[in-house]
Amino acid sequence: MIPGLPHDIDQIKGFLAEDEAAALYQHALETSARGPVLEIGSYCGKSTIYLGLACRDTGSTLFALDHHRGSEEHQQGEFFHDPELFDQGAGLMDSFREFRRNISAAGLDDVVVPLVSDSETTARHWRTPLAMVFIDGGHSLDAALTDYRCWASHVLRGGILAIHDLFADAHEGGQAPYAIYRLAKASGLFADLGQVSSLGLLRRL
Ligand code: MG
Repeated sequence: MIPGLPHDIDQIKGFLAEDEAAALYQHALETSARGPVLEIGSYCGKSTIYLGLACRDTGSTLFALDHHRGSEEHQQGEFFHDPELFDQGAGLMDSFREFRRNISAAGLDDVVVPLVSDSETTARHWRTPLAMVFIDGGHSLDAALTDYRCWASHVLRGGILAIHDLFADAHEGGQAPYAIYRLAKASGLFADLGQVSSLGLLRRL
């Protein structure tokens, strides 16, 4: 049981299994007293709430990075497109309004700092070591590589790098997250903590 977890957490749009959510919470709880946590790909805030609750417990901060214009698979005509998250006026996806509503309802406004931008722009002047980085952004190879290159080096020693949507079999899902997971493991910078469902966990040496 996670203290403060909204009773309607399952109503929040998103793609996160219960065991993965619990693992994110636990690792954030164990590491975030040492520094802030960064999440890449917040969408409507489901994983943000789990990480944010842990950060609240330790007095830490969660940076929630997402341009909120949706990944490739969220665009109009794509499989995961959600018309409720489409801004007709702008003609673009916009998950930020829904995100902000969910974070506020969870009482996490003073823990979660939204970064409404892309990885590259946000990372350009980033200097703060991070206790945990959770990569759950775009699933194109380009997007996943950018997220990895921008953020993996900011994980402090003993900190956690978590990567979502790992599928060894290409029939189960895209291979880009798996590609950066393999890169991280081959880098010699991380100890492999194994997987919880499709969530890969690594500890910075
Ligand atoms: Mg994901």
